[in-house]
Amino acid sequence: MIPRHKRVGSLLQWFDRSQRVLPWRENKDPYRIWVSEIMLQQTTVKTVLPYYERFLKKFPTLESLAKSSLDKVLVAWSGLGYYSRGRNLHKAAEILVKEYNGKFPRDVQELQKLPGIGRYTAGAVASIAFDEKVPLLDGNVIRVLTRLYALRGDPRKNPLLEELWGKADSLLPQKRCGDHNQALMELGATVCLPREPLCLLCPLNDSCEGNRLGIARELPQKVKKSYHKRYRLITLIENNGRYLIARKSAKKLMGRLWEFPSFDLKNERIPDSLSRIVEKVLGIRVKNATLIGKISHAIMNERFVVPVMKCKVVRLRRTTPTQQFYTGFRWIDPKKLAEYPTSSVNRKALGLL
Ligand code: SF4
Repeated sequence: MIPRHKRVGSLLQWFDRSQRVLPWRENKDPYRIWVSEIMLQQTTVKTVLPYYERFLKKFPTLESLAKSSLDKVLVAWSGLGYYSRGRNLHKAAEILVKEYNGKFPRDVQELQKLPGIGRYTAGAVASIAFDEKVPLLDGNVIRVLTRLYALRGDPRKNPLLEELWGKADSLLPQKRCGDHNQALMELGATVCLPREPLCLLCPLNDSCEGNRLGIARELPQKVKKSYHKRYRLITLIENNGRYLIARKSAKKLMGRLWEFPSFDLKNERIPDSLSRIVEKVLGIRVKNATLIGKISHAIMNERFVVPVMKCKVVRLRRTTPTQQFYTGFRWIDPKKLAEYPTSSVNRKALGLL
């Protein structure tokens, strides 16, 4: 077995040669690193890049983010998904400015007291921004480590999860811990690929147990996820070229976001009584209800099938919201939807028009 310091050395040399140029690597500003780490949770680098550039332009500093309204932050986040990340980012910025004098703590325990910062993000900010000697474990690092040590089991659960944190910790060098952590993530993202690990190009190949045993492709072990299927109908209600959008209550999933009014369905079948439901719930009589398409999307372990109907207003009975999960209504020019915090599903629904 190759000694630990040699492995670490070759990994860092590889990182110096091969790392991708990414905007959050331009400097060690903890604010920029934190924003990138939150955006990169559940989202690919390619998707994050344009959002990150736009977000940093709008909120170049921690203070500017803390001072902004939550709505503006959610507009900047629109389309990126998992909106609690945007809400937590804003809340954490306010706390950092008020209680920490606008400075990020270096300590991982202290960082984890902030909303939206768990063990992984705390490790990333502390090591990359402050070079603290702390490990981190994301999906890419988990793949590299399970292969490097040929570890079987469910990596999302203990005992393997804790063992992986221990392995990540034991590999940390004395210096350049942030670069070392980034190198492990980069290796997982560009070389130790999920289906086809490029072992010939890997700086760790002569000490990799998974490679030696020929089982790298099988690791980490796949664990079957169970999904719930759900059905929801989106209605695009038109009145003289304007469309109705409604704001969800802060307490609901995707709270405070605007959407085209939507309703849960029992199954894929659209009820014959759609016009009656719309009138009862929204106080609007509609006609010409037509199915214009269907969208599929997933949130966590839920798979949504979303038929989209368009219809025209016949008569407005009332204009105030009555549905318990809506707190406001607006009739908008569809081109203005981008000015409202809204989810990508609603943009897709509008695209069907
Ligand atoms: Fe991954 Fe292959 Fe490198 Fe092992 S040798 S860490 S399996 S790329």
